[in-house]
This record gives sequence, C-alpha cells and structure tokens, in this order.
Amino acid sequence: MRLSRYFLPVLKENPSEAQIASHRLMLRAGMIKQQQAGIYSWLPMGYKVLRRLEQIVHEEQVRAGHIPVLMPTMQSAELWQESGRYDAYGPEMLRIKDRHGRDMLYGPTNEEMITDIFRAHVESYKSLPMTLYQIQWKFRDEVRPRFGVMRGREFFMKDGYSFDLTKEDALHAYNRHMVSYLRTYERMGLTAIPMRADSGPIGGDNTHEFLVLAPTGESEVFYDSNVTDLTLGDREVDYDNRDEVEAICKEFTTLYARTDETHDEAIFNEVPEERRKSARGIEVGQIFYFGTKYSESMGANVQMPDGSKVPVEMGSHGIGVSRLVGALIEANHDEKGIIWPEGVTPFHVGIVNLKQGDAACDSACDALYAALTKAGLDPLYDDRNERAGAKFATMDLIGLPWRVTIGPRGVAANKVELTSRRTGESEEMSAEAAVAKII
Ligand code: ATP
Ligand code: MG
Ligand code: MG
Ligand code: MG
Repeated sequence: MRLSRYFLPVLKENPSEAQIASHRLMLRAGMIKQQQAGIYSWLPMGYKVLRRLEQIVHEEQVRAGHIPVLMPTMQSAELWQESGRYDAYGPEMLRIKDRHGRDMLYGPTNEEMITDIFRAHVESYKSLPMTLYQIQWKFRDEVRPRFGVMRGREFFMKDGYSFDLTKEDALHAYNRHMVSYLRTYERMGLTAIPMRADSGPIGGDNTHEFLVLAPTGESEVFYDSNVTDLTLGDREVDYDNRDEVEAICKEFTTLYARTDETHDEAIFNEVPEERRKSARGIEVGQIFYFGTKYSESMGANVQMPDGSKVPVEMGSHGIGVSRLVGALIEANHDEKGIIWPEGVTPFHVGIVNLKQGDAACDSACDALYAALTKAGLDPLYDDRNERAGAKFATMDLIGLPWRVTIGPRGVAANKVELTSRRTGESEEMSAEAAVAKII
C-alpha cells in the first residue's frame, strides 16, 4: 500500500478523552473513530488488525476441531424467556421492539440461540462431541463504557459452545479450549495467564479467565511469578488425546493464579514470598463448564442407545477479539507509539523515502516495494511529500516491526537502512539483505 493512496487519519494532538495508552494510540494512529459511547468504526488500519486477530482465532479453533458458524446479532426475547435469563440479565441487555411490537434484543451472548439450533437438529448421542463457535458482534449496554475498544458497548467476540454426552467429555472440551486459547494468545505475541475465576452459584473449578497483566487492567489478580514464564511454544498438540491436553492444562494451572473473586490468602501464603505477586489484569477470554443448565431448561436432549433421552453437557468459551486489539497495545508500546508484534501487525514493514521525487530514490523504493511484495509481505510505503521527521514520527506511531529508509546517500552506495521498531537499532545493508532479514 502506498500511503498517499491509503486512508490513515493520524492525529497530531493527544485526544483528551483517552485515559489510557491503547485508546490514545488507536485514536492517534487513525485505527478507530468513536461514533457513540462505546461504539466504534474501525478505520482501515484498525480493521486490518482486527481481521488478523480474527483469522488467528479461527485457525486455532479449527485446529482444535471446532466448527465455525454464524448466528444473527438480533435475537428474539422468547428464547431468553425459556432459559429464564430475559428478566435476569438486567439493563446490560439492549432490548428492542420490531414494527409488530415483538420483543427482540441485540445479543450479549448466545447460549440460548445455540441451544435452540442444537435441539432443532441434533437427536442422537452419536452426533457428540460437537463444538460450534462464531466470531460475531455483541452488544452489552455497559454502565461505564471506557478505555476505547477495551470496554465497548458493541464489541467483537469469539463465542464457542461445546456439547458432550458426559461430564468427562465436557471437561475434555474445556481443556481443549484452554490449550487452544493459550496457543491463540501466544501467536498474537501476548502472555495471557489462565486464572481460576468465579463460577457463581454452580461452584467448582470449572471456569478460568485469561488475563494479560497491565497496570490499566480492570481486574485485580494474584499469582506466583513463575507462571509468567510458562509457554506452549511450537509443540504439536493432539487435541483428541485427553491425557496430553489435560497434562498441558495442569502445567498451566498448578501454580497459583487467581482473580480477586477466588483469591485465597491462606493458599497464596504458601507461595515463596519473593514469587507472590499482585497486579492488575485485562480479561481477554474466559472458559466455562456449566453442565446442563441450558439443555435442561430448553430441552436439548439426545437419544441414548436404549432409547432414553438425556440433556447434553455444555460449556461456553469466549475470546474478546476487539478488546485484544487494545490489550495488545497496552502490552506493546512506548512513548512514541505502538510496537506491533510480528504476528498481528497491520503491515509487515514500512518504507520511508527521504527524498520523494528524486528519480533514483523513487525507483529504489519502487524496486524494494516490488521485492517485498514478491516475498509475500505487505509493505506500507510512505511516498508522501513530507519531511523525513514527519515520516519517521508516523512510522513510530503506527508501530510496524520494521522500517526501511531510503535516501540519496544510501542509494549512491547501494544501501538501505533497516530499523527495528522494538529495539530502535538500525543497520545499513543491501536491499536484498533487508528483504531477507524481514521475511
Ligand atoms: P468483563 O468482566 O470485562 O465485563 P465479562 O466477564 O463480562 O467481561 P464474558 O462474558 O466472559 O465477559 O465475555 C467473553 C470475553 O469478551 C471477555 O473475556 C472479554 O475479553 C470480552 N468482553 C466482554 N465484555 C466486553 C466489552 N464490553 N468490550 C469488549 N470486550 C468485552
Ligand atoms: Mg461484563
Ligand atoms: Mg469478567
Ligand atoms: Mg468473563
């Protein structure tokens, strides 16, 4: 993409409404525009990042054997009356009437609708296990929408629903989700720690939240500092192998890590003092096993070999895809701007032409652009008639991992300058060597 033909409405001033870095930087880098409190348009570069995250989530869900579907954002009140949640959900639910006076709502989550789909089409135990998921917009009329896309009212969420015959099977589905989430966050370049969370009236160790540590997080968390060293890396996981999947979950959930709701001082005090940490965290996902709560109230049963009918065991599992864009920036920025991890960057590399209009510089930039594109990379070429300082400031703000700078002096010596956004280090080399290094 040539910047002169792109739409990147960068702001020079710090927007006064933004209280935290990610919100400020998303506005300044022209990624989003607020339309109403907690409701945003995604401008081209923000949309690109959102799509990259969505793609990673899809790939890891499919790898775990889960099946994508798409449900509507609008739901009928009747389904929620069946489960008993229509009244219980409260003012976070946006309720709407259609022209016939029928009660509808903009879905805050989809347990009822997916259960309705399941009961309409699945009859036999032979169809299990099954996990369906979608990545779709949700609406929650949050009391205090804030921090930009981190707590929006309209937000993009992956929500998956597992259906199993037995509790044991359902816990395997739970574990599969945990591992697939660990891999998802790692691919995004994030450390998200599974923490034991509050399961409400159901009780038990059947829900974990995934938290990214950040001073601006809204949750208070307590953990053993060794937990931050755990990584999945590139080990192959056989998601059908229960023992293997369970062992990974054990590895990641044995060290103390809890949100304030489940925090237990007595157990925490057994952690060596120098490893006992409390901090703030951003909730970027949650997995939940809840048994037959919806299948019983909504009649989602399967027929057994002996002809009897049993309600299915269910769980629901969410990832905050749009919140992750903010969380990623909270975890990856400096005073100049964003520093995208390679796995999610909107463009792989920026090209800065120091002397736009100079025939030699222009053609060196064009040649580099072509070489990068040929290598399968997506470059952003700043071909505007701007001062070098302004071009560098824009590149630093939007945070692409690599910048290649081309100017008259370098062109004469057959050299370009390659700069890493994260380390700030620059190196002179041939254009070919730069392409090789970026790949
Ligand atoms: P929170 O505690 O932050 O209100 P939640 O526990 O109500 O979140 P879940 O129902 O667990 O949210 O939804 C799954 C995921 O969706 C959350 O882990 C979070 O990442 C994301 N999410 C929830 N509410 C919002 C929101 N208002 N804006 C952006 N993302 C959200
Ligand atoms: Mg909430
Ligand atoms: Mg929560
Ligand atoms: Mg939650």
